Amino acid sequence: MQIEGKYLSEMISHAREDAPREACGILAGTGHRVLRIYRARNAQRSPTSYSLDPEEQYRIFRDIEDRGLELVGIYHSHPSSPATPSDTDIEQAYYPEVSYVVISLADPDEPQVRVFRITEEGVAEEDMLVV
Ligand code: ZN
Repeated sequence: MQIEGKYLSEMISHAREDAPREACGILAGTGHRVLRIYRARNAQRSPTSYSLDPEEQYRIFRDIEDRGLELVGIYHSHPSSPATPSDTDIEQAYYPEVSYVVISLADPDEPQVRVFRITEEGVAEEDMLVV
């Protein structure tokens, strides 16, 4: 996944603002390149899990389509655990073709951001190129 530094900062800011609850959002672009970021509500309002609100997700997906972009990734934060997908994250990864970004604030001074592809075959870490 290729992402500009400003979008990376935006995800980290969102994660910090919503802590101690998990934050989540959607990344749109073309191919593996992020060109737009959408903050979303965590419908679960939980410190240990997240889900996108279906109506909001529908609106975002429609906006992505209207702009001629594609769904590139889904991000969420782990306010106090490492930047690896939880069992629930893996179970609820419905889009095998997108990048799952996890932002960990376990060390508040050094947020960790990692990217994964989650398919039926398992979880594979992806490279993140910050441009
Ligand atoms: Zn998670």
